[in-house]
Amino acid sequence: MKNKYDIIVVGGGFAGAAAAISAGRLGKSVLLIEKYNCMGGAACYDLVNPFMPYATTDPESGERIDLSCGLFTEIVDRLRQLGGAKNEKRSLPFNEEVLKYLLNTMALESGAELLYQTYVTGVRKEGERIKSVMISNVSGNSEIEADCFIDATGDANLSVMAGCPYRLGRESDNLCQPMTLCFRLAGVKGYDADLKARINALYSEYQASGKIKNPRENVLIFKTLVGDILHFNTTRVVKLDPTNAEDVTKAEIIAREQVFEMYNFLRENFDEFKDSTLISTGIQIGVRESRMIDGEYTLTKDDLLSCARFDDSIAVCNYDIDIHSPDGSGTSHYYFPHGEYYTIPYRCLIPKNAENLLVAGRCVSADHDAQASLRIMPTCATLGEAAGIAASLALNGNIRSVDTDELRKILKEKGAKVD
Ligand SMILES: Cc1cc2nc3c(=O)[nH]c(=O)nc-3n(C[C@H](O)[C@H](O)[C@H](O)COP(=O)(O)OP(=O)(O)OC[C@H]3O[C@@H](n4cnc5c(N)ncnc54)[C@H](O)[C@@H]3O)c2cc1C
Repeated sequence: MKNKYDIIVVGGGFAGAAAAISAGRLGKSVLLIEKYNCMGGAACYDLVNPFMPYATTDPESGERIDLSCGLFTEIVDRLRQLGGAKNEKRSLPFNEEVLKYLLNTMALESGAELLYQTYVTGVRKEGERIKSVMISNVSGNSEIEADCFIDATGDANLSVMAGCPYRLGRESDNLCQPMTLCFRLAGVKGYDADLKARINALYSEYQASGKIKNPRENVLIFKTLVGDILHFNTTRVVKLDPTNAEDVTKAEIIAREQVFEMYNFLRENFDEFKDSTLISTGIQIGVRESRMIDGEYTLTKDDLLSCARFDDSIAVCNYDIDIHSPDGSGTSHYYFPHGEYYTIPYRCLIPKNAENLLVAGRCVSADHDAQASLRIMPTCATLGEAAGIAASLALNGNIRSVDTDELRKILKEKGAKVD
């Protein structure tokens, strides 16, 4: 490891991994720092699966148009080659163990260096310029410099350390979308539409009579690549702050109670679950929404509804505005018409009050509704790819010096869809 890099990426989720790989491929010296032992972020430690839809259909020809392309397409193709993803229906399930291996391979091929099991604890600044990050790991505490930094921490942790302004949750009361501890059950026999309907009917009865405490309105289950293993994205913890350590601890405890509530409900009432086993829960509770930076531009619900086009757009998306109620029960959706999508400008990646810092992933500058759409893993990967290329183009790390026409040209050459 060196004392100084061209680019330091903090966080190895889809955004951070894509940022490090794309910058590494452009010949920059890159260090990715991640607190866990792999990349993949929420996909790996929250067990989030599958990839939500990242394509639309041409209303006339009915042909599929992929929206998250470029590096994300390569990840999906290589996952398939390794047996880590198969067929897609509405969404694409994948094997996170294969993903961890693949992202290591792709990062090392790109020349990026990795520093795992390392927590970034602070920054040293000179004016609006970040000089270095402080890190803590098994070797002790140290400091590493870079010309440019990318905050891909999901919670905008690096931006907060650098003193950049941000918003938390929805505008009216700062409540965030619920936290969810995902889990998997193995040994389930014959899960199909009929069983799903029976589960939901009884769940509603149990909830009405107070036997089920989980406030979620239904049971959200996904099939996995393994026949008898089901994935549950169904616990729901509301009205707690994902950026407050005591609240997060309470959330972990409540969610684990909900896991057992659901597991027991299924085993006790459905023969298909009688011999099932709880094989895994996420390493930590999943956070859909927390801080969003206050950037040079804030993407809004109106931008999404009008399918806005921006001159400096660097990514596109049409995933529905998918809001799990921050208050309790209910999930609201706004689905985009066939063939329509919105664009995301480069300015959403630029935090105010920082000269050499970009942000990528679910904490870019967006309002509550816009974040509810762009937060999916495919879009986070496209935002990361754009951030990695932009940081590579930034003169002396100055992210406002980036020629966005040049950035968009490189993204297009790499197969990304930017408008
Ligand atoms: C319960 C739940 C269900 C979801 N369902 C789906 C779904 O079905 N499909 C879909 O496509 N999307 C889904 N999403 C959304 C999606 O998973 C996330 O929004 C997306 O993965 C975020 O990617 P990211 O790269 O921005 O952040 P993350 O994946 O959160 O990565 C951030 C990384 O930064 C690291 N980090 C943070 N702080 C530090 C620090 N100080 N030092 C070092 N490292 C640090 C973290 O360890 C982490 O690896 C879901 C999310 C949740 C929570």
